[in-house]
Amino acid sequence: MSGPMATGAEGVTAIYPGSFDPVTNGHLDLIERGQRIFKRVIVSVLLNQEKDPLFTIEERIEMLRTVTAQWNNVEVDRFEGLLVNYASAKGAVVVLRGVRAVTDFDYEFQMALMNRHLRPEIETVFLMPAEDYSYLSSSLVKEVVKLGGSVRGLVPPGIERNLKRKLKSGN
Ligand code: ADP
Repeated sequence: MSGPMATGAEGVTAIYPGSFDPVTNGHLDLIERGQRIFKRVIVSVLLNQEKDPLFTIEERIEMLRTVTAQWNNVEVDRFEGLLVNYASAKGAVVVLRGVRAVTDFDYEFQMALMNRHLRPEIETVFLMPAEDYSYLSSSLVKEVVKLGGSVRGLVPPGIERNLKRKLKSGN
């Protein structure tokens, strides 16, 4: 089998969508696991006008590119509009998502079923991060840095520096 719509794990492209504001070691843990399973993983930053992000889309993409440079089957992109339409356009048949705790379940369940309703040929695949990251979120990391705490070990070193810079100057 070959080509973007090939079946079987050998040829599968997965989209890993999210805000990544900023990328954390939890996201990286998931990308690492995903790239071992799938032929190609496209990490895609959602252009969501409703949210008020700390980092611009360009900054988030740049950070993701830097921390995923070690994997040559991982790409970074952006998208807006319906995720399933974007996935199809990219030749992806899998949407990759992380489940940390039961609190993620409700929302993820709704999204996965809605996406299946919209495009039944696309499957959502959930992976669990390492235990150490199961309580970790971008918003919690931002909160801790804002209050002067250390997030060492929870985000890559360069990301921690960017967070400190951003949260000192400005907000
Ligand atoms: P959203 O804004 O939709 O929550 P995020 O950028 O926070 O998007 O997360 C994107 C995806 O990464 C989601 O599937 C989320 O569950 C997953 N994720 C976020 N943080 C972690 C983590 N610490 N461990 C595993 N998965 C995570």
